[in-house]
Amino acid sequence: MVPIQWGNVLPRLRVSRVIDHDVVIIGGGLAGSRAALEIVRTNPRLSVALVAKTHPIRSHSVAAQGGIAATLKNVDEADSWEAHAFDTVKGSDYLADQDAVEILTREAPDVVIDLEHMGVLFSRLPDGRIAQRAFGGHSHNRTCYAADKTGHAILHELICNLMRYGVKVYDEWYVMQLILEEGQAKGVVMYHLLDGQIEVIRAKAVMFATGGYGRVFNTTSNDFASTGDGLAMTAIAGLPLEDMEFVQFHPTGLYPVGVLISEAVRGEGAYLINSEGQRFMENYAPSRMELAPRDITSRAIAREIRAGRGIHPDGSAGGPFIYLDLRHMGQEKIMSRVPFCWEEAHRLLGIDAVHQPMPVRPTVHYSMGGIPVNTEGRVRSYGEALVDGFFAAGEAACVSVHGANRLGSNSLLECVVYGKRTGAAIAEFVENRKLPPLDASPYLQVARQQLQSLLDQAGQYRIAQVRQAYQDCMTEHCGVFRQESVMREGLAKLKQIQQQYAQIRLDDSGKLWNTEIIEALELKYLMIVGEIILTAALNRKESRGSHAREDYPDRDDLNFLQHTLAYYSPAGIDLTYRPVCITLFQPQERKY
Ligand SMILES: Cc1cc2nc3c(=O)[nH]c(=O)nc-3n(C[C@H](O)[C@H](O)[C@H](O)COP(=O)(O)OP(=O)(O)OC[C@H]3O[C@@H](n4cnc5c(N)ncnc54)[C@H](O)[C@@H]3O)c2cc1C
Repeated sequence: MVPIQWGNVLPRLRVSRVIDHDVVIIGGGLAGSRAALEIVRTNPRLSVALVAKTHPIRSHSVAAQGGIAATLKNVDEADSWEAHAFDTVKGSDYLADQDAVEILTREAPDVVIDLEHMGVLFSRLPDGRIAQRAFGGHSHNRTCYAADKTGHAILHELICNLMRYGVKVYDEWYVMQLILEEGQAKGVVMYHLLDGQIEVIRAKAVMFATGGYGRVFNTTSNDFASTGDGLAMTAIAGLPLEDMEFVQFHPTGLYPVGVLISEAVRGEGAYLINSEGQRFMENYAPSRMELAPRDITSRAIAREIRAGRGIHPDGSAGGPFIYLDLRHMGQEKIMSRVPFCWEEAHRLLGIDAVHQPMPVRPTVHYSMGGIPVNTEGRVRSYGEALVDGFFAAGEAACVSVHGANRLGSNSLLECVVYGKRTGAAIAEFVENRKLPPLDASPYLQVARQQLQSLLDQAGQYRIAQVRQAYQDCMTEHCGVFRQESVMREGLAKLKQIQQQYAQIRLDDSGKLWNTEIIEALELKYLMIVGEIILTAALNRKESRGSHAREDYPDRDDLNFLQHTLAYYSPAGIDLTYRPVCITLFQPQERKY
């Protein structure tokens, strides 16, 4: 087949064309769509573009199951925002910025009621108020939910509202580059999956809400689109990424696929059982048992498996998983509270959780770190300096409310609270501002060349092959437990795999719906993100939250009660550190 020439796809005459909007938001998940809604609610005259490489309602947010935390006090009157804030800070192993946590927990009830008014179908108590359930690391029952399909319920309602307000949605457009000139964000370069068209959007404000990077690892609960593109593009632009070493493993990924079985299942009373039939959490977190925070529970499961108390598919001891047992909960409760988890196990493994335990083990789930932002969603560059016109929120951002370990049901909350705040800040920022001057031609030309050289490359490796080698490397060398020598070896391997990238071969040379081109770009970005994770993890010589070093098993507040900032360049990664904001709670030993 003759490869296409990019000049044919985008005729030279159209090279300098620019699409103008007041605001461009990349990402149609909860954070991006909540921000877009806030902007048009504040000022309906603003032209807002929302770009997503998937359709917005296929963003990973749609898969969120267990719920969203807020101290509504519907089932537990003793709850308070202060208790929610304390649980969050303790859960974060004291690395969260407490000013940001205070905002998160104080504003939580209002944003949930606002969602309710938009029409989100929350599950109810018999008296009609929003129901709330228990969740790991939360000291009160404060997680609001829509059965175990909470993300689905919220995202659909938000997207319906965007349609109503006339937000322009560019779905299945892949953003390839952030345009940053002289410290000012001016727009993005994007590629249309449908027909290979390349365009530049120019805007007064650019927001990244591009989600997480679970696909850096070989076993994850995340969707295929969670490839950390926004993080890599920010790093390539010379801006820092914060606390990237903190990767959350969710305790209960279905074995062997890694698909999530929500913490809601344990919130509703399920047990974790080893090969000896023991509820082993009594040895690790006796006061919280199965509802200990995720870092502690994931390590406990990994230790049980290492000690030979895991289970094999034939039921014998010494295998690679443990059991999540729902049987005592009974059919009625399982089918009304966690029907989706039952369906997942049934569809993927043929297991009927009413009568059989589910095989589970930790799976990569969430990125605590990300693009550093202040509490208005403005992106930081050096120290306290901010990037003009650049904003971020949601899982791609690090504000930091989760510190070294996120509590379940706090991420949807972060997306909604900080999506809303960032939207409000953007609406104010663009008021009375002009569109920045921008010559789009060089950007379009570079993008075209980049794609053309990918197509022309007559390499020996398939994308899937290189990606698998890379994901296996990250999983083996930067997993639940970490060690200097293992990570160093991982970095060396990573360098070799990066060289293979220069020799990948694409089979599809067409311009219509060429998903291979997207996969090639995603792989490049994945590898940058992984290199930053490994480098930041090597340098943090302590154990805190999800970052468990076998060679430095203790937390070291003297040297590491601070945020990592990583600056990427192809020549290497520089690290600096930033102090943690401590306003409410002094660091203590973390016990459950
Ligand atoms: C299975 C699962 C269950 C979860 N359950 C819960 C829960 O119950 N409670 C909770 O609090 N949290 C939960 N989480 C975490 C939570 O869902 C996510 O952290 C949150 O939804 C992330 O939202 P977001 O808006 O930041 O990003 P996402 O929803 O991931 O959206 C990212 C968007 O960016 C777009 N994008 C990315 N890169 C590009 C690019 N290069 N060009 C164009 N567009 C791009 C994507 O298309 C997408 O629209 C769960 C996560 C998973 C994986």
